[in-house]
Amino acid sequence: MALLDNLIAVLERWDVWKELKSNADKIPELEKRITELEQKLERCPGEACPKCGHLTLRRTRAAPARHTYECEREECSYIEHHNPMEKRYSR
Ligand SMILES: [Zn+2]
Repeated sequence: MALLDNLIAVLERWDVWKELKSNADKIPELEKRITELEQKLERCPGEACPKCGHLTLRRTRAAPARHTYECEREECSYIEHHNPMEKRYSR
């Protein structure tokens, strides 16, 4: 046991070990947050609307040079057009 105690004492002086221990303590909280985000995405798989922030922005039309995205929320009605060839957005 003395050897193990000495090994742990040496590890405790190593900054990388301290960081590993600190990050390991964060894993349960991160798992909880990931689960919450996954559940949110299951219910609303649309993209985030830049106007209202809800995950309800969906592509509604796709012409070759103009894609239309619309927010599904009636109270928002945000619309944007995107030319996939230019990789630029216009509203
Ligand atoms: Zn919206």
